[in-house]
Amino acid sequence: MANQEEKKRRKAIVERIAREEQTAAEAALPISKPDLKALFDYVDQQLEQNGCDHTLKAARFFLVQRKLPEEVIVEWLREAGGGCDCEVIANVEGTWGEIVGSV
Ligand SMILES: [Zn+2]
Repeated sequence: MANQEEKKRRKAIVERIAREEQTAAEAALPISKPDLKALFDYVDQQLEQNGCDHTLKAARFFLVQRKLPEEVIVEWLREAGGGCDCEVIANVEGTWGEIVGSV
C-alpha cells in the first residue's frame, strides 16, 4: 500500500511529465500562440457565417493573409485532428484553446 508520501511523490512525477509533454508540444508548434488564437477566432467567425464546406478554406485564407507558412501549418492542423474548418474548432481548439487563451 502506498503511503501519503509515496502518493505525493507519484503525483509530482505525473505532473512533471504532463508539464514536459506540454512544453515539448508547444515547442513544436509551427505557429505563434497569438496567431493560433487569431486563427481560431477567424475560423470560428467564418463558420458562424458560412458553415463548413469540409475544407480548410477559412484556415488557409487566414494563413495566406498573414503570410504564414500555409502548408506546414495545415499539415500540423491535420495531425491535430483538424481536417476541415469545423474540425479545427472542434478538435484543435479543443486541445489548444486553453493554452493560447481563445476559450
Ligand atoms: Zn467541417
